[in-house]
Amino acid sequence: MTVMPNPTAFAGCDDTSVLKERGQREVFCGLTSIIWLHRKMPDAFFLVIGSRTCAHLLQSAAGVMIFAEPRFATAILEETDLAGLADAQNELDRVVGELLNRRPDIRRLFLVGSCPSEVIKLDLQCAAERLTTKHAPHVRVLNYSGSGIETTFTQGEDACLAAMVSVLPESQNQQLLLVGALPEVVEEQAVSLLSAMGIEPVRVLPAPRADEDFGIGENTFFALTQPFLGDTHAALTRRGAHHIAAPFPFGEKGTTAWLQAIANVFKVADSRFKSVTEVPRARARKAISQAADVLAGKSVFLFPDSQLEIPLARFLTVECGMTAIEVGTPYLHRGLVEQDLEFLPTSTTISEGQDVDQQLDRCRQSRPDLTVCGLGLANPLEAEGLITKWAIELVFSPIHFYEQAGDLAGLFSRPLRRSERLKLAAVS
Ligand code: SF4
Repeated sequence: MTVMPNPTAFAGCDDTSVLKERGQREVFCGLTSIIWLHRKMPDAFFLVIGSRTCAHLLQSAAGVMIFAEPRFATAILEETDLAGLADAQNELDRVVGELLNRRPDIRRLFLVGSCPSEVIKLDLQCAAERLTTKHAPHVRVLNYSGSGIETTFTQGEDACLAAMVSVLPESQNQQLLLVGALPEVVEEQAVSLLSAMGIEPVRVLPAPRADEDFGIGENTFFALTQPFLGDTHAALTRRGAHHIAAPFPFGEKGTTAWLQAIANVFKVADSRFKSVTEVPRARARKAISQAADVLAGKSVFLFPDSQLEIPLARFLTVECGMTAIEVGTPYLHRGLVEQDLEFLPTSTTISEGQDVDQQLDRCRQSRPDLTVCGLGLANPLEAEGLITKWAIELVFSPIHFYEQAGDLAGLFSRPLRRSERLKLAAVS
Protein backbone atom coordinates (compact mmCIF):
# COMPACT_ATOMS: atom_id res chain seq x y z
CA MET A 1 0.00 0.00 0.00
CA THR A 2 1.36 3.44 -0.91
CA VAL A 3 0.78 5.69 2.02
CA MET A 4 3.01 8.66 1.30
CA PRO A 5 3.89 10.58 -1.85
CA ASN A 6 6.97 9.19 -3.56
CA PRO A 7 9.96 10.85 -1.88
CA THR A 8 11.92 10.77 -5.13
CA ALA A 9 9.68 13.62 -6.22
CA PHE A 10 11.72 15.67 -3.75
CA ALA A 11 15.45 16.09 -3.85
CA GLY A 12 15.69 15.56 -0.06
CA CYS A 13 18.70 16.82 1.78
CA ASP A 14 22.20 15.46 2.11
CA ASP A 15 24.92 16.31 4.62
CA THR A 16 26.39 19.15 2.57
CA SER A 17 23.08 21.02 2.45
CA VAL A 18 22.66 21.16 6.24
CA LEU A 19 23.52 24.52 7.77
CA LYS A 20 25.43 23.72 10.96
CA GLU A 21 25.57 26.45 13.58
CA ARG A 22 27.34 26.64 16.92
CA GLY A 23 26.45 29.79 18.81
CA GLN A 24 24.12 31.07 21.46
CA ARG A 25 21.06 28.83 21.92
CA GLU A 26 17.61 29.46 23.35
CA VAL A 27 16.32 26.22 24.90
CA PHE A 28 15.12 24.84 28.24
CA CYS A 29 17.12 22.17 30.07
CA GLY A 30 16.29 18.47 30.41
CA LEU A 31 14.72 18.86 33.86
CA THR A 32 11.61 20.11 32.05
CA SER A 33 10.78 16.57 30.89
CA ILE A 34 10.11 15.51 34.51
CA ILE A 35 6.82 17.38 34.16
CA TRP A 36 5.41 14.85 31.68
CA LEU A 37 7.45 11.82 32.80
CA HIS A 38 6.13 11.83 36.37
CA ARG A 39 2.55 11.74 35.07
CA LYS A 40 3.39 8.71 33.00
CA MET A 41 4.92 6.71 35.87
CA PRO A 42 2.74 7.03 38.99
CA ASP A 43 5.03 4.84 41.12
CA ALA A 44 8.19 6.81 40.26
CA PHE A 45 9.85 9.72 42.04
CA PHE A 46 12.29 12.15 40.43
CA LEU A 47 14.89 13.58 42.80
CA VAL A 48 16.87 16.37 41.14
CA ILE A 49 20.31 16.88 42.65
CA GLY A 50 20.67 20.55 41.90
CA SER A 51 20.51 24.16 42.93
CA ARG A 52 17.75 26.55 43.97
CA THR A 53 17.49 27.56 40.30
CA CYS A 54 16.64 23.95 39.40
CA ALA A 55 14.04 23.85 42.18
CA HIS A 56 12.49 27.10 40.92
CA LEU A 57 12.37 25.83 37.35
CA LEU A 58 10.52 22.67 38.40
CA GLN A 59 8.17 24.39 40.78
CA SER A 60 7.18 27.15 38.39
CA ALA A 61 6.79 24.80 35.42
CA ALA A 62 4.69 22.29 37.39
CA GLY A 63 3.45 24.50 40.21
CA VAL A 64 0.08 22.78 40.44
CA MET A 65 1.81 19.78 41.99
CA ILE A 66 2.50 21.62 45.25
CA PHE A 67 -1.17 21.04 46.10
CA ALA A 68 -0.93 17.31 45.44
CA GLU A 69 1.42 14.64 46.77
CA PRO A 70 4.49 15.56 44.72
CA ARG A 71 6.44 12.99 42.79
CA PHE A 72 9.48 15.14 42.23
CA ALA A 73 11.70 17.28 44.40
CA THR A 74 15.11 18.91 44.44
CA ALA A 75 17.87 17.92 46.85
CA ILE A 76 19.62 21.29 46.96
CA LEU A 77 23.40 21.31 46.82
CA GLU A 78 24.49 23.87 49.40
CA GLU A 79 27.72 25.86 49.30
CA THR A 80 29.46 23.33 51.55
CA ASP A 81 28.63 20.58 49.01
CA LEU A 82 29.77 22.69 46.06
CA ALA A 83 33.01 23.59 47.82
CA GLY A 84 33.65 19.93 48.63
CA LEU A 85 33.46 20.60 52.39
CA ALA A 86 30.70 18.04 52.94
CA ASP A 87 30.41 14.51 51.57
CA ALA A 88 27.54 14.91 49.10
CA GLN A 89 27.22 11.11 48.74
CA ASN A 90 26.52 10.71 52.48
CA GLU A 91 24.01 13.55 52.30
CA LEU A 92 22.31 11.89 49.35
CA ASP A 93 22.04 8.56 51.21
CA ARG A 94 20.42 10.36 54.12
CA VAL A 95 17.93 12.31 51.95
CA VAL A 96 16.97 9.20 49.95
CA GLY A 97 16.56 7.13 53.13
CA GLU A 98 14.21 9.74 54.62
CA LEU A 99 12.23 10.03 51.39
CA LEU A 100 11.73 6.27 50.97
CA ASN A 101 10.72 5.85 54.64
CA ARG A 102 8.12 8.56 54.24
CA ARG A 103 6.87 7.36 50.84
CA PRO A 104 6.53 3.56 50.65
CA ASP A 105 4.55 3.99 47.39
CA ILE A 106 7.78 4.83 45.50
CA ARG A 107 8.97 1.84 43.45
CA ARG A 108 11.32 3.64 41.05
CA LEU A 109 13.56 6.48 42.13
CA PHE A 110 15.39 8.57 39.54
CA LEU A 111 18.38 10.61 40.68
CA VAL A 112 18.44 13.41 38.13
CA GLY A 113 21.75 15.20 37.52
CA SER A 114 21.84 18.96 36.90
CA CYS A 115 24.39 21.59 35.90
CA PRO A 116 25.69 22.00 39.49
CA SER A 117 25.97 18.25 40.15
CA GLU A 118 27.83 17.81 36.86
CA VAL A 119 30.15 20.75 37.54
CA ILE A 120 31.25 19.22 40.85
CA LYS A 121 31.34 15.79 39.15
CA LEU A 122 29.04 14.13 41.63
CA ASP A 123 28.97 10.45 40.64
CA LEU A 124 25.23 9.70 40.53
CA GLN A 125 25.67 6.36 38.78
CA CYS A 126 27.68 5.08 41.69
CA ALA A 127 25.06 6.51 44.07
CA ALA A 128 22.23 4.80 42.15
CA GLU A 129 23.99 1.41 42.29
CA ARG A 130 24.72 1.77 46.01
CA LEU A 131 21.15 2.87 46.81
CA THR A 132 19.60 0.11 44.66
CA THR A 133 21.56 -2.49 46.67
CA LYS A 134 20.39 -0.87 49.87
CA HIS A 135 16.69 -0.52 48.99
CA ALA A 136 16.12 -3.57 46.71
CA PRO A 137 13.84 -5.31 45.92
CA HIS A 138 11.13 -2.77 46.74
CA VAL A 139 12.82 0.20 45.05
CA ARG A 140 15.01 0.42 41.96
CA VAL A 141 17.23 3.53 41.87
CA LEU A 142 18.37 4.85 38.47
CA ASN A 143 20.19 7.99 37.43
CA TYR A 144 20.31 10.22 34.38
CA SER A 145 21.29 13.76 33.49
CA GLY A 146 18.77 16.56 32.98
CA SER A 147 21.39 19.29 32.97
CA GLY A 148 21.31 22.28 30.69
CA ILE A 149 24.94 21.79 29.65
CA GLU A 150 24.84 21.05 25.92
CA THR A 151 21.31 19.64 25.97
CA THR A 152 17.85 20.51 24.89
CA PHE A 153 14.85 19.81 27.10
CA THR A 154 13.53 16.68 25.37
CA GLN A 155 16.88 14.98 26.01
CA GLY A 156 15.71 14.58 29.61
CA GLU A 157 13.17 11.98 28.47
CA ASP A 158 15.73 10.35 26.19
CA ALA A 159 18.27 10.03 29.00
CA CYS A 160 15.60 8.68 31.39
CA LEU A 161 14.39 6.00 28.97
CA ALA A 162 17.95 5.00 28.03
CA ALA A 163 18.68 4.49 31.75
CA MET A 164 15.58 2.29 32.02
CA VAL A 165 16.66 0.15 29.03
CA SER A 166 19.98 -0.64 30.68
CA VAL A 167 18.29 -2.53 33.55
CA LEU A 168 15.57 -4.40 31.62
CA PRO A 169 16.03 -8.18 31.79
CA GLU A 170 16.85 -10.33 28.74
CA SER A 171 13.98 -11.92 26.81
CA GLN A 172 13.89 -13.84 23.53
CA ASN A 173 10.12 -13.43 23.10
CA GLN A 174 8.95 -11.77 19.91
CA GLN A 175 7.25 -8.49 20.75
CA LEU A 176 6.62 -4.96 19.59
CA LEU A 177 7.86 -2.15 21.79
CA LEU A 178 6.49 1.39 21.45
CA VAL A 179 9.05 3.86 22.76
CA GLY A 180 8.19 7.33 24.05
CA ALA A 181 6.12 8.83 26.89
CA LEU A 182 2.75 9.59 25.30
CA PRO A 183 -0.46 10.66 27.06
CA GLU A 184 -2.36 7.53 28.13
CA VAL A 185 -5.35 8.06 25.85
CA VAL A 186 -3.09 8.53 22.81
CA GLU A 187 -1.03 5.46 23.64
CA GLU A 188 -4.22 3.40 24.00
CA GLN A 189 -5.32 4.44 20.51
CA ALA A 190 -2.04 3.19 19.01
CA VAL A 191 -2.10 -0.08 20.96
CA SER A 192 -5.72 -0.69 19.98
CA LEU A 193 -4.98 -0.18 16.24
CA LEU A 194 -1.99 -2.52 16.44
CA SER A 195 -3.95 -5.14 18.39
CA ALA A 196 -6.74 -4.99 15.82
CA MET A 197 -4.11 -5.93 13.22
CA GLY A 198 -3.25 -8.99 15.33
CA ILE A 199 0.12 -7.66 16.55
CA GLU A 200 0.90 -8.75 20.10
CA PRO A 201 2.27 -8.46 22.63
CA VAL A 202 2.66 -4.69 22.40
CA ARG A 203 4.83 -3.25 25.19
CA VAL A 204 5.42 0.39 25.99
CA LEU A 205 8.50 2.18 27.28
CA PRO A 206 8.25 3.72 29.83
CA ALA A 207 6.05 1.04 31.43
CA PRO A 208 3.57 2.83 33.71
CA ARG A 209 4.48 0.71 36.75
CA ALA A 210 7.61 -1.07 37.89
CA ASP A 211 5.87 -4.47 38.04
CA GLU A 212 4.88 -4.09 34.36
CA ASP A 213 8.52 -4.14 33.25
CA PHE A 214 9.39 -6.62 30.50
CA GLY A 215 12.48 -8.20 28.98
CA ILE A 216 14.12 -7.25 25.68
CA GLY A 217 16.38 -9.01 23.21
CA GLU A 218 16.91 -9.98 19.59
CA ASN A 219 13.22 -10.66 18.93
CA THR A 220 12.14 -7.23 20.16
CA PHE A 221 11.15 -4.83 17.37
CA PHE A 222 10.76 -1.24 18.45
CA ALA A 223 9.05 1.79 16.94
CA LEU A 224 9.84 5.27 18.23
CA THR A 225 6.94 7.64 18.80
CA GLN A 226 9.20 10.65 19.39
CA PRO A 227 12.11 11.82 17.23
CA PHE A 228 14.30 12.88 20.16
CA LEU A 229 15.11 9.42 21.50
CA GLY A 230 18.59 8.96 20.02
CA ASP A 231 20.26 7.56 23.17
CA THR A 232 17.32 5.24 23.85
CA HIS A 233 17.52 4.01 20.24
CA ALA A 234 21.25 3.31 20.74
CA ALA A 235 20.64 1.56 24.09
CA LEU A 236 17.93 -0.69 22.61
CA THR A 237 20.06 -1.50 19.58
CA ARG A 238 22.97 -2.46 21.87
CA ARG A 239 20.59 -4.89 23.61
CA GLY A 240 19.89 -6.57 20.25
CA ALA A 241 16.46 -5.01 19.57
CA HIS A 242 15.59 -3.91 16.01
CA HIS A 243 14.42 -0.43 15.09
CA ILE A 244 11.45 -0.15 12.71
CA ALA A 245 12.37 2.96 10.72
CA ALA A 246 9.37 5.06 9.61
CA PRO A 247 8.12 8.62 9.40
CA PHE A 248 6.79 9.75 12.80
CA PRO A 249 3.06 9.29 13.44
CA PHE A 250 1.93 12.88 12.94
CA GLY A 251 -1.09 13.49 10.71
CA GLU A 252 -2.94 10.97 8.56
CA LYS A 253 -0.05 10.16 6.23
CA GLY A 254 2.62 10.03 8.94
CA THR A 255 0.48 7.74 11.12
CA THR A 256 -0.37 5.46 8.21
CA ALA A 257 3.26 5.19 7.13
CA TRP A 258 4.33 4.47 10.74
CA LEU A 259 1.66 1.77 11.13
CA GLN A 260 2.48 0.32 7.71
CA ALA A 261 6.19 -0.05 8.58
CA ILE A 262 5.21 -2.01 11.71
CA ALA A 263 2.61 -4.05 9.82
CA ASN A 264 5.24 -5.01 7.23
CA VAL A 265 7.60 -6.36 9.93
CA PHE A 266 4.77 -8.35 11.56
CA LYS A 267 3.47 -9.53 8.17
CA VAL A 268 -0.04 -8.12 8.49
CA ALA A 269 -2.11 -8.76 5.35
CA ASP A 270 -2.88 -5.65 3.25
CA SER A 271 -6.62 -6.34 3.52
CA ARG A 272 -6.49 -6.42 7.32
CA PHE A 273 -4.35 -3.29 7.45
CA LYS A 274 -6.83 -1.52 5.22
CA SER A 275 -9.88 -2.60 7.20
CA VAL A 276 -8.32 -1.42 10.49
CA THR A 277 -7.08 1.94 9.21
CA GLU A 278 -9.62 2.98 6.58
CA VAL A 279 -12.17 4.65 8.86
CA PRO A 280 -9.74 6.51 11.20
CA ARG A 281 -7.72 7.60 8.14
CA ALA A 282 -10.80 9.17 6.57
CA ARG A 283 -11.64 10.86 9.89
CA ALA A 284 -8.11 12.24 10.18
CA ARG A 285 -8.12 13.53 6.58
CA LYS A 286 -11.39 15.33 7.18
CA ALA A 287 -10.21 16.82 10.47
CA ILE A 288 -6.97 18.06 8.90
CA SER A 289 -8.76 19.62 5.93
CA GLN A 290 -11.13 21.48 8.28
CA ALA A 291 -8.32 22.78 10.49
CA ALA A 292 -5.69 23.38 7.82
CA ASP A 293 -7.50 25.40 5.14
CA VAL A 294 -5.85 28.55 6.46
CA LEU A 295 -2.40 26.91 6.33
CA ALA A 296 -2.35 25.99 2.62
CA GLY A 297 -0.02 28.21 0.60
CA LYS A 298 1.48 29.85 3.72
CA SER A 299 5.15 29.76 4.70
CA VAL A 300 6.59 28.54 7.99
CA PHE A 301 9.96 29.00 9.74
CA LEU A 302 10.82 26.61 12.60
CA PHE A 303 13.45 27.53 15.18
CA PRO A 304 15.28 24.61 16.86
CA ASP A 305 13.64 23.65 20.14
CA SER A 306 12.19 20.18 20.84
CA GLN A 307 13.70 18.05 18.01
CA LEU A 308 10.14 17.51 16.73
CA GLU A 309 10.81 20.07 13.99
CA ILE A 310 11.63 17.81 11.03
CA PRO A 311 8.63 15.45 11.35
CA LEU A 312 6.36 18.43 11.98
CA ALA A 313 7.73 20.23 8.91
CA ARG A 314 6.93 17.07 6.93
CA PHE A 315 3.37 17.18 8.26
CA LEU A 316 2.96 20.90 7.55
CA THR A 317 4.30 20.69 3.98
CA VAL A 318 3.01 17.30 2.79
CA GLU A 319 -0.34 17.25 4.61
CA CYS A 320 -1.21 20.92 5.13
CA GLY A 321 0.23 22.49 1.96
CA MET A 322 2.65 24.88 3.68
CA THR A 323 6.10 25.89 2.42
CA ALA A 324 8.91 25.41 4.94
CA ILE A 325 11.50 28.18 4.61
CA GLU A 326 13.86 26.94 7.33
CA VAL A 327 13.61 23.95 9.65
CA GLY A 328 15.98 24.22 12.59
CA THR A 329 16.71 21.29 14.88
CA PRO A 330 19.01 21.16 17.92
CA TYR A 331 20.46 17.84 16.67
CA LEU A 332 19.97 16.05 13.39
CA HIS A 333 19.64 12.31 14.12
CA ARG A 334 19.51 11.05 10.54
CA GLY A 335 18.93 7.45 11.64
CA LEU A 336 15.72 8.60 13.30
CA VAL A 337 14.31 11.34 11.04
CA GLU A 338 15.60 10.35 7.58
CA GLN A 339 12.17 9.06 6.55
CA ASP A 340 10.61 12.46 7.28
CA LEU A 341 13.58 14.46 6.02
CA GLU A 342 13.38 12.99 2.55
CA PHE A 343 9.99 14.60 2.03
CA LEU A 344 11.36 18.12 2.51
CA PRO A 345 12.35 19.86 -0.73
CA THR A 346 15.87 21.22 -1.33
CA SER A 347 14.49 24.75 -1.26
CA THR A 348 14.01 24.31 2.51
CA THR A 349 17.03 25.24 4.63
CA ILE A 350 17.75 22.53 7.21
CA SER A 351 19.79 23.93 10.09
CA GLU A 352 21.35 22.02 12.98
CA GLY A 353 22.36 23.69 16.24
CA GLN A 354 21.82 27.40 16.65
CA ASP A 355 23.35 30.84 16.45
CA VAL A 356 20.24 32.66 17.54
CA ASP A 357 21.15 36.14 16.28
CA GLN A 358 21.96 34.91 12.78
CA GLN A 359 18.85 32.78 12.73
CA LEU A 360 16.71 35.73 13.80
CA ASP A 361 18.19 37.76 10.94
CA ARG A 362 17.27 35.02 8.45
CA CYS A 363 13.77 34.83 9.88
CA ARG A 364 13.22 38.59 9.70
CA GLN A 365 14.51 38.65 6.14
CA SER A 366 12.21 35.87 4.94
CA ARG A 367 9.09 37.23 6.74
CA PRO A 368 7.35 33.84 7.15
CA ASP A 369 3.57 33.70 7.59
CA LEU A 370 4.12 31.58 10.73
CA THR A 371 7.17 31.24 13.00
CA VAL A 372 7.43 28.29 15.38
CA CYS A 373 9.82 29.17 18.19
CA GLY A 374 10.59 29.06 21.91
CA LEU A 375 8.82 31.23 24.48
CA GLY A 376 11.72 33.67 24.75
CA LEU A 377 11.65 34.55 21.05
CA ALA A 378 7.88 34.63 20.50
CA ASN A 379 7.04 37.98 22.11
CA PRO A 380 9.85 39.98 20.47
CA LEU A 381 8.95 38.51 17.06
CA GLU A 382 5.24 39.23 17.59
CA ALA A 383 6.23 42.83 18.40
CA GLU A 384 7.94 42.93 15.00
CA GLY A 385 4.70 41.86 13.29
CA LEU A 386 5.43 38.13 12.86
CA ILE A 387 2.86 35.51 13.83
CA THR A 388 4.30 32.91 16.18
CA LYS A 389 3.51 29.53 17.68
CA TRP A 390 5.13 28.40 20.95
CA ALA A 391 7.06 25.25 20.15
CA ILE A 392 6.84 23.86 23.69
CA GLU A 393 3.06 23.50 23.36
CA LEU A 394 3.68 20.79 20.79
CA VAL A 395 5.41 18.67 23.42
CA PHE A 396 2.72 19.14 26.04
CA SER A 397 -0.27 18.59 23.70
CA PRO A 398 -1.60 15.24 22.44
CA ILE A 399 -0.60 15.39 18.75
CA HIS A 400 0.15 11.80 17.68
CA PHE A 401 -1.92 9.41 15.54
CA TYR A 402 -5.19 9.74 13.62
CA GLU A 403 -7.52 11.09 16.28
CA GLN A 404 -5.22 14.01 17.11
CA ALA A 405 -4.36 14.91 13.48
CA GLY A 406 -6.96 17.67 13.28
CA ASP A 407 -5.86 19.11 16.64
CA LEU A 408 -2.26 19.13 15.44
CA ALA A 409 -3.18 21.14 12.34
CA GLY A 410 -5.32 23.35 14.59
CA LEU A 411 -2.34 24.18 16.81
CA PHE A 412 -0.67 25.79 13.78
CA SER A 413 -3.76 27.36 12.22
CA ARG A 414 -5.00 28.99 15.43
CA PRO A 415 -2.41 31.82 15.55
CA LEU A 416 -3.10 32.62 11.87
CA ARG A 417 -6.87 32.73 12.47
CA ARG A 418 -6.38 34.87 15.57
CA SER A 419 -4.26 37.32 13.59
CA GLU A 420 -6.92 37.54 10.85
CA ARG A 421 -9.60 38.23 13.46
CA LEU A 422 -7.47 40.95 15.04
CA LYS A 423 -6.93 42.61 11.65
CA LEU A 424 -10.69 42.53 10.95
CA ALA A 425 -11.43 43.97 14.41
CA ALA A 426 -8.92 46.76 13.79
CA VAL A 427 -10.55 47.88 10.50
CA SER A 428 -14.15 47.63 11.76
S1 SF4 B 1 19.82 21.98 35.36
FE1 SF4 B 1 21.06 23.76 34.82
S2 SF4 B 1 19.86 24.88 33.27
FE2 SF4 B 1 18.45 23.46 34.35
S3 SF4 B 1 17.55 24.69 36.00
FE3 SF4 B 1 19.33 23.60 36.86
S4 SF4 B 1 21.03 25.07 36.65
FE4 SF4 B 1 19.38 25.78 35.28
